[in-house]
Order: sequence, then C-alpha cells, then structure tokens
Amino acid sequence: MIRAGIVGAGGRMGQALIRSVLEAKGIEIAGVSERPGSSLIGKDPGEAAFTGKIGIKAKDTPKKAFKTSDVIIDFSSPEASMHHLEYAVETDKAIVIGTTGFSKQQRNKIKKMGKETRIVMAPNMSVGINLLLKLVNTAATALGDPYDVEIVETHHRHKKDAPSGTAIRIAEEAAKALSRNFDETAVYCRKGIIGERKTKEIGIQTLRAGDVVGDHTIIFATPGERIELTHKAQSRDTFANGAVKAAIWLVEKPRGLYDMHDVLNLKD
Ligand code: NAD
Repeated sequence: MIRAGIVGAGGRMGQALIRSVLEAKGIEIAGVSERPGSSLIGKDPGEAAFTGKIGIKAKDTPKKAFKTSDVIIDFSSPEASMHHLEYAVETDKAIVIGTTGFSKQQRNKIKKMGKETRIVMAPNMSVGINLLLKLVNTAATALGDPYDVEIVETHHRHKKDAPSGTAIRIAEEAAKALSRNFDETAVYCRKGIIGERKTKEIGIQTLRAGDVVGDHTIIFATPGERIELTHKAQSRDTFANGAVKAAIWLVEKPRGLYDMHDVLNLKD
C-alpha cells in the first residue's frame, strides 16, 4: 500500500484529494498538514471533506506527513510548495505539486531540485487538459503563422494567480509548435489605443467569476475561419484523481522532474 501525505488538506483541492485517495486502490492517507493558524489544525480533515473521519489529525507542520508517507501531494501556495519541495529533497521523498503561480526564479529552482528527488509538477492534472495540450501542438503546427492565437481562461472568484498556470502552459505549447519565444510573444489583457494586432502575438485573457472550476479555450483565427478548442473542468475531482494517479506512478520512478504527459504516457 502506498502511503500519501496531503499538505494543504483544508483547501478546495486538499478536500478533493482526501476524497480521491480514499476512493483509489493501492494508496492510503498517512499524514495531513495545513498552515499554522488554520482552523483544521488538530482536527480530522475527513469531516471538512465530507468523507467521515479518516482517523488522522491535521498538523501545523508537514514534518509528520513527510515522515509517515512515501509520497506527498501538495496543492497549496507557491511559497508553501517551495518549502515542501526543499523538505522533499532533504528527506528524499517523492512529491506531486499541483500548485500554480510560481515565479520564473522559483520554476528554475524546481528544475534543479528535480535532480535531487522525484517530482511531478503540472499546472493542470486533468487527463482532458493534457490531451488538449497535444491537440494544441498539432493544430498550431498545421495552421502556422497565418492564424492568430488567443487563449481565454475563466476561474472562480477566489483564484489568486492570473493568468492560470494552465493558460500559460497552453500558450507555451502553442509558442513551441510555432517556434516563437513565449516571453516575447505573450500579450496579457489588452486596453486602450494599442494599434493593430501583431501577427505573432499570443493573447492570454483572464476572467474571474462565481464558482467556475476552470474553463480554457484556445482560438486559432484567420480571415474566413476560426477553430476553437475548449476544455471545461466540471469538478475538482478531475484534478485530484490526476494527482493521485501521478502519486502512484511516481513512487517507483527514479529522481527527476516529470509532468502529466509522463504520467499519462502522452509524450511522443
Ligand atoms: P485553496 O486556497 O482553497 O487551498 C490552499 C490550501 O493550502 C489552504 O487551505 C491553505 O491554508 C493551505 N496552505 C497554505 N500554506 C500552507 C502551508 N505552509 N502548509 C500547509 N498548507 C498550507 O486553493 P485551491 O483552490 O485548493 O488551490 C491550491 C493551488 O492549486 C492553487 O495554486 C491552484 O491554482 C492550484 N490548482 C491546481 C490544479 C492542478 O490541476 N494542477 C487544479 C486546481 C488548483
């Protein structure tokens, strides 16, 4: 039986992860943590996740979860995840990171950490989005520069980072297929008299509303036609189930930084 530690267990994703691990075969919850000061500390997180008690109390430090687990699943905040990653390196534990909003500097540091422990990191753990990334690559390669590329993402009102990590990942995939430098071509939310659209721009637009779990659309448009590829997450369970799949997959793997394309065997 694989033992999983869930850090950030009181969050929207943390609760979905508890339900997902309990439903999965071959994996069990061995430790749970939350940020110091959280109302979950000292309590059984199963109650908040509506699963009934799981027999484990949430700690205000990840140490116990790391000690009792083979793999840690972390959907928290960039700062907390950097701390958890350092701890994973120190204790040589596998870690699945779903957190988004890392800075470039943090992402570079995570790349280096991948040499020292086993990491799966992806801004979106759903099977559908990872398939969409493949379709984006195929479409962008086939359509090329004559087609304008625009991405629109919508999330719930509580989301802290913008644009979503998934929208950035979709834009990066399109930029790669079109041989463009992502940083030079990405354009975020336009306003004012900005002039005509430049051919090689990749536009990324952000909407925040209500309780939308996560919608992403990429548009390829040229005079005369438009292709739109859309993914809509209906429930957080889709991300949680992907993360649990990644955790089970990762425990037997050698050190390295992996993504969901590795887990789902979608790499060419
Ligand atoms: P949330 O705010 O509901 O939950 C985050 C939880 O982490 C909170 O309960 C918070 O108290 C906890 N936390 C913060 N610091 C901590 C620490 N030091 N130790 C332990 N716990 C700590 O947010 P959410 O909607 O669950 O999303 C969390 C992250 O996951 C975000 O970055 C979000 O963008 C990302 N996300 C990724 C995917 C994916 O598929 N990769 C899907 C959904 C959300």
